[in-house]
Amino acid sequence: MGTSLDMAQGKLSVVATPIGNLEDITLRALRTLKACNVIYAEDTRVISKLLARYEIKKPLQRLDAATEVKKADDILARLEAGEHIALVTDAGTPGISDPGARLVAQVRKRLSGATIEAIPGPSALTTALSIAGVDTTGFTFMGFLPHKKGRQTALGKIAAMVRSDSPQGGIPVVLYESPHRILKLLRELNALEISRVIVARELTKIHEEVIAGTPDEMLAHFSARPDTVRGEFVVIIEAR
Ligand code: SAM
Repeated sequence: MGTSLDMAQGKLSVVATPIGNLEDITLRALRTLKACNVIYAEDTRVISKLLARYEIKKPLQRLDAATEVKKADDILARLEAGEHIALVTDAGTPGISDPGARLVAQVRKRLSGATIEAIPGPSALTTALSIAGVDTTGFTFMGFLPHKKGRQTALGKIAAMVRSDSPQGGIPVVLYESPHRILKLLRELNALEISRVIVARELTKIHEEVIAGTPDEMLAHFSARPDTVRGEFVVIIEAR
């Protein structure tokens, strides 16, 4: 955090945005997006829809996973000049399976005088957990599983973590998944003899759906209604 002596070194606001429903934005997020000098966005077209809805006009710059490190120098220079920069991603909280963490690390390391503030708001992770009905005293978030290398190892870790005789006593695991791989993931969880999963789809959107059961039951559900294998998914693997 900045101190009163070095406040001239600018401010980086890391702003959470809606995960579907454009009304899910805080008053503070709107005020920040209106007040900043520039918005760095994962995809400027996506954020433009939100800005148009709230009649916010701001210079936009792209900052995605591929450019996050390369553009850090530009952002550091702007912060050093005292600018107020807002960082947003396409949906939810930056840095959660999204760009942001590497930029924040650079600013912390190289510009200790700059203020870094979080403007908290939605995340698919907390949104899904809040309506899953699982014990969240402890949980593990693993984001997207690796597609190829390391996938089997990750699945093995999941199986171990949810077991009641694991060192932690069994804790739920939360994953993000795309529609292209959801069936593959459910088949893999079925092979691990996972007893119960909760699948949260299209949270905060018109087709929001939360279903629970064995991976096999989930597979049966999606084969009966293939039209629902679309959108965005959070998968919670319940502890035994
Ligand atoms: N930073 C975001 C957050 O805070 O949730 C996550 C970004 S990650 C690239 C996108 C993934 O989040 C999707 O593939 C899906 O797994 C999950 N996700 C995002 N929005 C969602 C929604 N409305 N319903 C269900 N899952 C969602």
